[in-house]
Amino acid sequence: MAIREGRWQCLHCQAENLGRHKVCVGLDGKGGCGKKRGKVKFYLPAEAPPVTDSALLAQARSGPDQTLAEATSVTPRANDGLYVAAKLDTRTRLQTQTKKGPQLFGRNPVDLIDRQKKQRDERVRKLKIVALSAALLLCVVVVVWRLFFSTFTVEAQVESFSWQRSVSIERYQTVRESDWSIPSGGTKVAEDWRIRRYEEVFDRYVTVTRQVSEQVQTGSETYSCGSRDLGNGFFEDQTCTRPTYTTQDRTEYEQQPVYREEPVYDWYYTYDIDKWLHDRVERAGDTNQRPKWPEYTLDGDIERVAKQDEKYLVRFKTVEDEIIEREYPLESWAKLRIGQQFQIDRNRVGHIQAIKPLT
Ligand SMILES: [Zn+2]
Repeated sequence: MAIREGRWQCLHCQAENLGRHKVCVGLDGKGGCGKKRGKVKFYLPAEAPPVTDSALLAQARSGPDQTLAEATSVTPRANDGLYVAAKLDTRTRLQTQTKKGPQLFGRNPVDLIDRQKKQRDERVRKLKIVALSAALLLCVVVVVWRLFFSTFTVEAQVESFSWQRSVSIERYQTVRESDWSIPSGGTKVAEDWRIRRYEEVFDRYVTVTRQVSEQVQTGSETYSCGSRDLGNGFFEDQTCTRPTYTTQDRTEYEQQPVYREEPVYDWYYTYDIDKWLHDRVERAGDTNQRPKWPEYTLDGDIERVAKQDEKYLVRFKTVEDEIIEREYPLESWAKLRIGQQFQIDRNRVGHIQAIKPLT
């Protein structure tokens, strides 16, 4: 394992020294202050080459300095950041300590008045927005209310009545239909062998290929993963191992079933069947207050009444000569009289809200 020479910084004059030196002499051997190196932290420059000199190797293997035994640790190699940090550490610590004092942010009286004014302006602005929104909302509410809910009243009287009544009649008839089966009561007329649906039927297998690639471990490699501080100005390389992989391609074969569409045949029937079907509507209607059902005759057992409808209308004439027609249930319709006075409430878009008798 390769040994590399570290460096240290003098605690007294900040000069940089080689790891081999135990007193401060500087990198050139002449520049230092001559003081003992004491308790420093060693660092390894990124470009430090392996040590080959036998005397230096012997010094490196002689164990840690007695004063530095506790500083021994593994540090990442080739770390310029750490190198700079170590260099500046002592100086910056001193500076930050002297800089601490009472903090005066925002305590200046001018600052304080300025800030209070800003806060007041902000409050006024928010209040204005709220007031404006409220006013706008009120306008919308008023418009909607005036258009749809506020009403104006007009007087009207009953001008005429009308009524309509109708009766739907069904007839029992024979009809021709066709389907895959004959319902009960049906009589077969014809049958036909035809395709009803298609079914998926297995046909054969086909072989499909697929390329699969996977990572396979083929061995392992060692690599430099840091250095160990020997505690005496020298560092020893650390090595780690990791597995190595290669990508291998493989062909996979798979049998896939193939299906085909095959028709399924069935009998399709045409048949006659008797059913109640709509036949006609009998109607009656007039413009009076005497409603009656239309007259009709049913053809023996083969006709029946399916449905009855009725409608009763009143025509009002307003004082402005407008005609308004309204439907009423029979009971209340029958009680109204020609010329009877009414009050009609409408909204601004003309929709009638209420019709109330005045007498
Ligand atoms: Zn020095």
